[in-house]
Formats: sequence, C-alpha cells, structure tokens
Amino acid sequence: MRICIDPGHGGRDPGAVGQDGLLEKDVNLAVAKRVAKHLENMGYEAILTRSEDEYVSLGARSKLANLHRVSVFVSIHCNSAENRAAQGTETFCYPTSSEGKTLAEMVQRELISRAGGKDRGVKHANFQVLRETAMPAILVELAFISNEDEEHKLASPDVQDAYALAISEGVDTYLVGRFKERVL
Ligand code: ZN
Repeated sequence: MRICIDPGHGGRDPGAVGQDGLLEKDVNLAVAKRVAKHLENMGYEAILTRSEDEYVSLGARSKLANLHRVSVFVSIHCNSAENRAAQGTETFCYPTSSEGKTLAEMVQRELISRAGGKDRGVKHANFQVLRETAMPAILVELAFISNEDEEHKLASPDVQDAYALAISEGVDTYLVGRFKERVL
C-alpha cells in the first residue's frame, strides 16, 4: 500500500518563520522524511511530494498523489498566528470527506498522546491539496512556529521523530481498520 507524504512549502516559499528564524519548510521536510522512514519500516511504500528544498505547486502535489494512486495523502505543516501565545496541534480534512475525517481523528489522537501538544481538534477546510486529491487526505498543523516554546520543540530532532511516529501510527491504524472492514 502506497502513502503520499507532502512536506508543505519549499524553495522560494519558506512558509511561516519562527521568532528565532526557524523555517516552516525545513521542519515540514524533516518530519516528512521521518514519516516516510517509519511507514517503510511498517511495510508501506512512501512517496514524498518533495525530498529536498524545492518549490512545488499545490496542483503538482495533488496530481502526484492521484497519479500514483496512493491510499492516503498526508500534508505536513506548522501553524502560525499573530498572537504569540497561540499553541497546539490541529488536523484538517475536507468538509465532505467522512474517510478523511476518520483518518484525521486517528492521526490527531496519536499526535496528542505521543507529542503532548494542546489538542485543538480536527477541523474542516477547503484547502486545495485536500480538495484535489482523490483519496482520504489530511493536513496536519504540528504546532505553532510563532510560539517560542513550540518553535523550540519543532526544531528538536527528538520531537520531530515523535510527530513522525504519531502520524505513521495514525495512518497505520486507519488503513488496518479499512482493510479489516473489506475482508469482513
Ligand atoms: Zn504551512
């Protein structure tokens, strides 16, 4: 089974920038690479929409996932807000996708239990990568890069790995559940 991991932003698009200069695009890529590794260890095939610091359009990201007929699409981002106290983890799915919602709930639960952020819950959003992908798709906001404490967490390889393991476990739980349903 094939899974597409989408590290948000890249190249000329840095995404959000932390108070200490941490770039969202770098965190997204580091976590995405770790997710791919964990999924491969679990026996899945992982495809990245980018594996280096390069610009990839939103349309190209969903097109790649559709072309490779992946079972699940996971976009990885860091949040940002003008209110520097804002913190926590949230996961988005497309408003009309019930499978996307189930997947989002499973990944969100693992992220909270394994990485310990404030639970901001599962939310709906009409994001292009969620709208244009033909499979259950989610967009994870790991934490707020605009919050000083969370910026430091996002920069830590140990925390990055906890996020990555959580995403992998959530995806695995979702796919195992789906597969079982099909057998029964
Ligand atoms: Zn982003």
